[in-house]
This record gives sequence, C-alpha cells and structure tokens, in this order.
Amino acid sequence: MTSSTIAKNSVVTLHYKLTLDDGSVADSSFGGDPLAYLHGHGNLVPGLERQLQGKKAGDKLDAIVPAAEGYGEYDPQGDQTLPRSAFPPDVEIQEGMGFHTEDDKGNPIPLWVKAVDTKGKQITITSNHPLAGQRLNFTIEILSLRAATKEELSHGHVHGPGGHHH
Ligand code: ZN
Repeated sequence: MTSSTIAKNSVVTLHYKLTLDDGSVADSSFGGDPLAYLHGHGNLVPGLERQLQGKKAGDKLDAIVPAAEGYGEYDPQGDQTLPRSAFPPDVEIQEGMGFHTEDDKGNPIPLWVKAVDTKGKQITITSNHPLAGQRLNFTIEILSLRAATKEELSHGHVHGPGGHHH
C-alpha cells in the first residue's frame, strides 16, 4: 500500500479545531500536541474520516460534518430522569460528566449527565453524546502519514506520540 495519501490503515497525525455553529470552539489541538489516529477503524466521526480519505501530509482543509455523520441526531428518547439516590452518594455529579453502564451482555454503554436538579434531587442522564444534533465544523492540518504496524492494526488504534501508551 502507498502511504502518500490517507487510506485504510494509515496512521495520520493532524491538528484539528472543532467549531460549533454558534461560533464556540468545542475542542482544538492547535498549540498543543497533535492527534494521531488509525484511519478506517472508526476512531473519528464517520463524516470526518470520509473527508480525510485521499488527503496527504501538508494538506489543510475545512470539513463540515452534518450531525448524522458526526455524533448523531439528538434522540429525545435517550433522556432519562432518575432520583439522586440512584447514584453513588460519594460521587459529585456534574452536568456534562460522562460514564459507562453495561447492557445485559456486559457491553459498555456511554452515558452523560444532561442536567442536575439539586433542589429536586433529580439527575437527568442521556445516551446522546454532548455534541449530538450539532453540525461539526472542523479545521484540519495534516502533519504526517505512515503505515500502521501489525500491532496497531490488531489493536485498532495508534501507539506512541498522540496515540495510546500501554
Ligand atoms: Zn494498543
């Protein structure tokens, strides 16, 4: 395989900035460590991976990703309000916190705290990602590309700088 353009199993190192439609910056790596990811393994939202396909080191691009190809449309059925007593008493529950529960097969299900009603002692949790329903506006600068190692392919993620350390 060629490593000159981004394809499945490329290890891509890039800088990114994620801006929401209201102009707020949700996340950015510029000025910090770049992100390294393994292309074609679902490590980025689908709409961004698709737009990075075929790009090369040195490319800069703006990628606009609709919610459906980002963190999904907002599903109101994913919201659930529970009494505070359903949560561990020694954990401070804050809006925006993420945690995992398990389905009946033991698979992890990500959940987030949507709202905390301290007066009514109720917590609203949601299966919607905090950026669900949002259009994602990425500014991308691709720094480098290389082929993944066998070990990285078997793990499905990048090792070393910008990736996993284990
Ligand atoms: Zn690994």
